[in-house]
Amino acid sequence: MIETRQLTKRYGDFTAVDAISFKVEPGQVLGFLGPNGAGKSTTMKMLAGFLAPTSGSATVAGFDVEKQPLEAKRALGYLPEGAPSYGEMNVREFLDFIADVRGLKDDQRHRRLDDAIERLHLDGVMEQPIDTLSKGFKRRVGLAGAILHDPRVLILDEPTDGLDPNQKQEVRTLINSMARDKTIIISTHLLEEVHAVCRRAIIIAGGRILADATPAELEARSRYHQAVSLSAANVGEAKEALARVAEIAAIEVDPQDNRITAFPKPGRAIFVAVGDALKERGVVFRELALEAGRLDEVFRTITQGAAGKEART
Ligand code: ADP
Repeated sequence: MIETRQLTKRYGDFTAVDAISFKVEPGQVLGFLGPNGAGKSTTMKMLAGFLAPTSGSATVAGFDVEKQPLEAKRALGYLPEGAPSYGEMNVREFLDFIADVRGLKDDQRHRRLDDAIERLHLDGVMEQPIDTLSKGFKRRVGLAGAILHDPRVLILDEPTDGLDPNQKQEVRTLINSMARDKTIIISTHLLEEVHAVCRRAIIIAGGRILADATPAELEARSRYHQAVSLSAANVGEAKEALARVAEIAAIEVDPQDNRITAFPKPGRAIFVAVGDALKERGVVFRELALEAGRLDEVFRTITQGAAGKEART
């Protein structure tokens, strides 16, 4: 549904996007993850046909974004970063304008407008100028515009940026509900978002792809993967009990909340042994948890090497 081949954007002698190649299959939600200045927006703008690549190519629904721009744009809904342009229009005028641009007519036009207004809960603000709306509503208006023609491909640049936690949740639910019949790329710097909506994540930094994996595969790269953590009334006692578990490689105590984490030796499972050791020694503990791995740590490790390139932003 989406494919890039050696897609590159240079500004003068600075390379913002550096020969990026990836494919997204139908029905996939791909998270584009990276620190500020990584090249996420630039890549999305090239896919959406708003920015010409310096070299390389991209196709959307089989159409080359440079050679067949109309066909590619027809298949695609794009939410740029920030607020919708045309801030002086009210919401109804803006959506009517998008419906015109998209060539929606008659019954289909009414159905699509009703659907977008309902999905994004815009009923109460239809007559309000976009400039006067809260950041959250501006984002929702932008999303309504992006999905209005029911495109097969959605490219959403930081769709939950500026939303409060409830609004974030609503937009994530919306994205999940659309994922059934659409191919979606979302960019984000929020790791929780990757968990909530993405089946696959590409980590980019310094204009390059540094990882391309499922969230679970990324977590498996974390040193916390398969670690066991717990809180104990008496930390010393708990550490003593854990020291007797042969499969534990290391024990750490978080200085902030005294939470203890035990790291297994490679390939070992320690959850049951930890529980048994604590009970045997009569240690009072709570919140014994098996860790899946920490995406924030994996993200930091993977992107740290590219820090030099980001210094420019
Ligand atoms: P992200 O979306 O990941 O935060 P961007 O794609 O916006 O990153 O930017 C990637 C890099 O390209 C940044 O270093 C940014 O400063 C640079 N950049 C973006 N637009 C321009 C431009 N018009 N001229 C020069 N440099 C730009």
